[in-house]
Amino acid sequence: MRAAIEAFDAGADVAMISKLHPTRSHSGAAEGGINAALGNAADDSPETHAYDTVKGSDYIGDQDSIEVFTREAPDDIYQLEHWGAFFSRRDDGKLAQRPFGAAGSPRTVYAADITGHVLIQVLFEQVVKRDIKVYEEFFAWQLVLNDDRCQGVICWDLLNGGLKTLGGKTVVMATGGAGRQYRATTNAYACTGDGMAMALHAGLPLKDMEFMQFHPTTMYPSGILITEGCRGEGAFLIDKDGERFMKNYAPNALELASRDVVSRSEQTEIDAGRGVNGSVLLDLRHLGAERIIERLPGSRELAMTYAGVDPIYEPIPVRPGAHYHMGGISTDTDGATELTGLYAAGECACVSVHGANRLGGNSLMETITFGRRSGRSAADWALSHTTIDIPESLERDAERQVKDLLSRESGERPWKIRDELGETMLENFGVFRREEKMLKQREILQELRERYRNVYVEDKGDVFNSDLTQAIELGNMLDTALCMVEAGIARKESRGAHSRPYDYPTRDDENFMHHSITRWRDGGVELSTAPVRVTKWEPQERKY
Ligand SMILES: Cc1cc2nc3c(=O)[nH]c(=O)nc-3n(C[C@H](O)[C@H](O)[C@H](O)COP(=O)(O)OP(=O)(O)OC[C@H]3O[C@@H](n4cnc5c(N)ncnc54)[C@H](O)[C@@H]3O)c2cc1C
Repeated sequence: MRAAIEAFDAGADVAMISKLHPTRSHSGAAEGGINAALGNAADDSPETHAYDTVKGSDYIGDQDSIEVFTREAPDDIYQLEHWGAFFSRRDDGKLAQRPFGAAGSPRTVYAADITGHVLIQVLFEQVVKRDIKVYEEFFAWQLVLNDDRCQGVICWDLLNGGLKTLGGKTVVMATGGAGRQYRATTNAYACTGDGMAMALHAGLPLKDMEFMQFHPTTMYPSGILITEGCRGEGAFLIDKDGERFMKNYAPNALELASRDVVSRSEQTEIDAGRGVNGSVLLDLRHLGAERIIERLPGSRELAMTYAGVDPIYEPIPVRPGAHYHMGGISTDTDGATELTGLYAAGECACVSVHGANRLGGNSLMETITFGRRSGRSAADWALSHTTIDIPESLERDAERQVKDLLSRESGERPWKIRDELGETMLENFGVFRREEKMLKQREILQELRERYRNVYVEDKGDVFNSDLTQAIELGNMLDTALCMVEAGIARKESRGAHSRPYDYPTRDDENFMHHSITRWRDGGVELSTAPVRVTKWEPQERKY
């Protein structure tokens, strides 16, 4: 939405395509806040924000991207505020900022604990105000490639059925994450990595796919997120005996160490038998009822509804869950990909501000700052070029593929393969990774992909055929998961979210300070590397 608004304001003719109603996009679930160095709560600067982000990335975030990001973030926040985002305020009237993990200063701007919900409403209002055409409940399936350019998207119309091709001189992909590859995830059903897979299948490189962030506080058993904002407000993590175990892992930052560090600490405690039902406990009780009700009302409600626990009186059972994909479609700082006419922003993209580990609050900001930048550059290109040419053969091929899928009278149902994907990714490619398990997962994925060739769509109808779209989503998840595992096997070190304590327990800058690049070649993954762009921060040991 931020890209669409910017492109429209630059003078382009813009339409948005979304498989959901735009306000149901998963950004709406974001709770804790959005980072910008406003310096309202303590001294801060874009430079400090950049340093924290580089360090958080375990030194493989591209530092030029990070500097653009932290420099432009404050103005983007003020723009959102002027559009009507009702961020929480301090007594002096300035925007309030709360501490978040691994941040050198309290810089997370928030609207209580419903920040994403507020942003999405405000942006949608701006979309409506501009009369930007929205193709909602349109499922984007394939990119239109012609003349070495991206010239549109082939979609399935969910409401009416049938393929619809939308031409565009430029396309900005903003399709979000892929957390549904895992059984335990904070991500909604729609987070299936479709955009990453579309780009992959169009021959484009995906970058740093091995880095899936596990969030330390997802509720047991549902996997629903309890925001880092709780720890920002002072919540403790305790084991079954009430011990604050983070003092053994991150003596300075404690619960506010970076997410990879906290997730690993929790998993170590759970594996050592010091947890409760495969979880540890998030304790808010000492914050007091008033503060919990004022600052964290959404988290309290989630805990009461989904864990049966009122955090005013009892700690919440939490454990690490798949949360955020640091990798994605490789772009430059204007969102441009290797393919003329194709741009990407948000979680599906990898402009590489997060590297091996994202800091909480940096992702919403990334969607805004790089959404704006990619919208602007996509519009600039579109306004200076005139033609769109969509070969009929492309549409005919897509028709044939749908017919083939729908005409099968038997085969395996998608959900079975999807469940096995989620279960095995969690088991073999989770918080801690072992060589033999990753090799096993590679085999499992090959087998699941083989079975997928025979996937059976039972619903043959046109109207809201989610059976069909779920089958397509499954194919997307399997192929992007293979990229993750291949890149993970090749990275023989521990860095950020990629932790190999049993064979390569330390970071190896000499051999692995590079990006992993995965491309689709001959129905499989081709791996290569790309250099990390360093501007001023040389790698150092990462301690919290
Ligand atoms: C529970 C939760 C809490 C979070 N809290 C925070 C936080 O406090 N701060 C922070 O910085 N980050 C947070 N994050 C991360 C952050 O919210 C996300 O990374 C970010 O919002 C993703 O935004 P996006 O625009 O890239 O994708 P989304 O908001 O997921 O939007 C993707 C859009 O693409 C559309 N789409 C996808 N596939 C297709 C297709 N095939 N065809 C058509 N349309 C398609 C969807 O309909 C949707 O409109 C949180 C994440 C989760 C899961």
